[in-house]
Amino acid sequence: MKVLGESQNSEQHLAQGILFVISGPSGVGKTSIIRSVLERIEHVVFSVSCTTRKQRPGEIDGIDYYFVSHEQFEKMIQENKFIEWARVHDNYYGTPADMVYENIRKGFDVILDIDVQGALTVKNNFSGAKFIFIAPPSYEILRERLKKRGTESEEKIQRRLETAKKELTFIPEFEYLIINEDLEESIRNLSSIIFAERLRYERIKDIAKVRKLMEEVR
Ligand code: 5GP
Repeated sequence: MKVLGESQNSEQHLAQGILFVISGPSGVGKTSIIRSVLERIEHVVFSVSCTTRKQRPGEIDGIDYYFVSHEQFEKMIQENKFIEWARVHDNYYGTPADMVYENIRKGFDVILDIDVQGALTVKNNFSGAKFIFIAPPSYEILRERLKKRGTESEEKIQRRLETAKKELTFIPEFEYLIINEDLEESIRNLSSIIFAERLRYERIKDIAKVRKLMEEVR
């Protein structure tokens, strides 16, 4: 098992960054919550995934996703470029490894917005990551939100709802659960998780200030 953020970094940042893995059904509001948290909290970055799915109107290549062909994606799998990858709704999605490792090492927290299969892959292969599930208040509300979003055909919405059913059964695999009833509250909840994880003694015990304090009282 790989340990994320193993080596020591400079004192410029508090300590090594933390990997936050966020999952939840399509349409639950993950993107809106994550976007606001990125705007409000310093030293948090978003891991832009690669995908073979079609770009939606308004999405920007390199910001929302790196949109790549099936061939490019398969080549990247072979070259071991992903921390994890999965096939979701007939398309490939994957987390590029370089950016994640580099930011964690520099002391930045990294947010992954990935599906449940991907989250479980990370859980089985890395220690130190934190797992957060974002759930809808009800299945009916999820259906309404997906319809309102208007980016998918009826058939695709049905598929996403079927996938959502399976995904919801994996909630117990996660450490944190946010029920997205109210966007502002969910943003506050995710922020609280990030701030609390940053304050864990185990994480910050090696930074100079803490070490000095512990030596002074020894
Ligand atoms: P969408 O097509 O709606 O943007 O995303 C569909 C699903 O793919 C979402 O559940 C999203 O979290 C997931 N996803 C996005 N990027 C990745 C990734 O890099 N890896 C995995 N495993 N899932 C991803």
